[in-house]
Amino acid sequence: MKLEAEVLDLFTEELKLCRVKPGEKVVVLTADDEWQEHAHAFMAAASALGASTFNLNVRRGQRNAVGVQGRHPLVGNELAMTTLKSADMVIDMVGLLFSREQAEIQAAGVRILRVMEPFHILKQMFPTEDLRRRVEYAKSMMEKARELRFTSEAGTDVTYELGQYPVISEYGYTYEPGRWDHFPSGFAFTQGNDSGVNGVVVLQPGDILCAFKRYVESPVTMRIEKGYVVDISGPGVDAQLLKSYADSFNDPRAYAVSHIGWGLNEKARWYQFAATRELPREHVMNALSFYGNVLFSLGPNLEVGGTNDTACHLDLPMRHCSLWLDGEQILDKGDVVHPAMRVARTS
Ligand code: FE
Repeated sequence: MKLEAEVLDLFTEELKLCRVKPGEKVVVLTADDEWQEHAHAFMAAASALGASTFNLNVRRGQRNAVGVQGRHPLVGNELAMTTLKSADMVIDMVGLLFSREQAEIQAAGVRILRVMEPFHILKQMFPTEDLRRRVEYAKSMMEKARELRFTSEAGTDVTYELGQYPVISEYGYTYEPGRWDHFPSGFAFTQGNDSGVNGVVVLQPGDILCAFKRYVESPVTMRIEKGYVVDISGPGVDAQLLKSYADSFNDPRAYAVSHIGWGLNEKARWYQFAATRELPREHVMNALSFYGNVLFSLGPNLEVGGTNDTACHLDLPMRHCSLWLDGEQILDKGDVVHPAMRVARTS
């Protein structure tokens, strides 16, 4: 397989950020014929840094519906799990997120880097030390906070009680044993306390329905009581799309309020879905990470140690919101105003 120098260079830089060193074992996990070029390049990069590496390829088997996470080919595959748990690092191109298997591999001290975007996105959003610093600052702030509130001029006003669940940072690389990250990314998130989320969220045109890779075109009002969306309404098709999609899982836990955080990657693009010609190949990391978005979501909370493992997950990045932690302002109408997380102006 032909390996382009630009790809090898970028992946080597990425694994240097992950502090891959001689003697480490790096397993590249893929399914079927997906991401073979990435797998090949990551193995070459790991070898160049002196690590031992191989590709563990599994069958995806039964195809899942688009957007369903947490159901994957490692379920019941003991031999693969034993292998992954004995590695130093796993590069995950299968998508283990929200699975018990991912938690088990991390608990064994293995760091996991998820990579499921095409090369041009990896290059465009490539992580930096400054991004890591700002995301880790967001994490430390959320860990201390007891209340998160966000509002918008469209009528959003919702409050999350915090403290029950951990905070997870995603900045695009990982060098700590047992720590998971996602290349590329750029945000931190947590989960409101059980029954501790109340208020109203109003999606506006330009907010994003990640499950459909499209922009909201008509307002959607979601009333939230005790951690659950209890009513969805709106004059256009978007409210119907959201409701119809969530209902299709026949699982009331699809309406649970899930992770909450805000985007900090200034290289990520809100407009990416509108600008790209490669929508089917690209995933949603631009949408989740763009600077100043409030990443509101519905569905599972396994990732933070909760018990909701519903297969319905809706990421809904929102623009133009203001956000506070214990009354300290972080976002003002979609702009990062907190000095510790704001991108320094270079000119
Ligand atoms: Fe999510």
